[in-house]
Amino acid sequence: PLVLGIETSCDETGVGVVQGHTLLANSIASSVEEHARFGGVVPEVASRAHLQAMTPTVERALADAGVTFNDIDAIAVTAGPGLAGALMVGVAAAKAYALALGKPLYGVNHLAAHVAVDQLEHGPLPRPCVALLVSGGHSSLLLVPDVATDVRPLGSTVDDAAGEAFDKVARVLDLGFPGGPYIDRAAREGDPAAIGFPRGKYDDGTYDFSFSGLKTAVARWVEARERAGEPVPVADVAASFQEAVVDVLTRKALAVCREQGVEDLLIGGGVAANSRLRALARERCEAAGVRLRVPRPGLCTDNGAMVAALGAELVAAGADPSALDLPADSSLPVTTVTL
Ligand code: ATP
Ligand code: MG
Ligand code: FE
Repeated sequence: PLVLGIETSCDETGVGVVQGHTLLANSIASSVEEHARFGGVVPEVASRAHLQAMTPTVERALADAGVTFNDIDAIAVTAGPGLAGALMVGVAAAKAYALALGKPLYGVNHLAAHVAVDQLEHGPLPRPCVALLVSGGHSSLLLVPDVATDVRPLGSTVDDAAGEAFDKVARVLDLGFPGGPYIDRAAREGDPAAIGFPRGKYDDGTYDFSFSGLKTAVARWVEARERAGEPVPVADVAASFQEAVVDVLTRKALAVCREQGVEDLLIGGGVAANSRLRALARERCEAAGVRLRVPRPGLCTDNGAMVAALGAELVAAGADPSALDLPADSSLPVTTVTL
């Protein structure tokens, strides 16, 4: 099926077009620069930007895909989780397109879409696979027997999400927003063993994460340096912080694979774009005999193609379309793939 996907859960207005597992277009407008001076996404600013970007981004996606509205078989849209006002803009637009075109509408889960997107790059997902979902708002380990119908949470962060920790540490180091890509870049010049930052819940036998203690430890370490009038070795701090995060993430992800007897690990969400996470995961998966799938960085961060990919999966699975009074649900649980 040819599916148009609309994503507006945060600050990216993303519109993707897919044909089954084939990516035809992935058009993105971001309001990130409007938020940068606030050091975080401002919900009202994001909603207004989505409203302004929606029509041109849809038109660009159709043009890039070389298709017209009439060719589309279904419309998919992120129904949650995310910023309520931002989600509402995407859901309202998707309803309008579905109604005007007489096409089925699928409200989908943003987190499941971060998993489904990998099919556009590496083909059908193994069933089951384990998914490590690491993004700005979530850090979870999932067992995924079938991304269209059955997503089971095994563990998640008890405090900050991994991406949130990257963003907060970047602020402490006076790097840009969002912090993940800046830390990734700064860390390349640093020594990951320079500072021994704490690894929360490393050996606690659960599939949960904790990053708030690490974030605080980095802030204290930097403050102590500044108080002593000594220069802050930004690259070493970035590399040591990043190492602590990716060490715990990969260790727990592989523990799940081992204990659940699953041989395929997928990593998704914005933090999956991190170069050190990708490298360490590759290394540890090879050692453990686990096959690793990570989409290219541009498909890890929020985009419309991921929503279209999950929509196509739902159509293929024969799922019921959503009602035209579909609500946006800012706290949609990961177990609800479509609603
Ligand atoms: P969620 O998916 O939980 O709703 P979100 O949609 O806001 O959150 P994503 O776009 O999936 O988040 O991910 C954004 C996060 O990814 C940000 O915290 C950002 O710093 C982080 N990120 C992006 N690139 C990198 C990178 N190279 N290294 C580390 N983190 C990164
Ligand atoms: Mg974003
Ligand atoms: Fe996301």
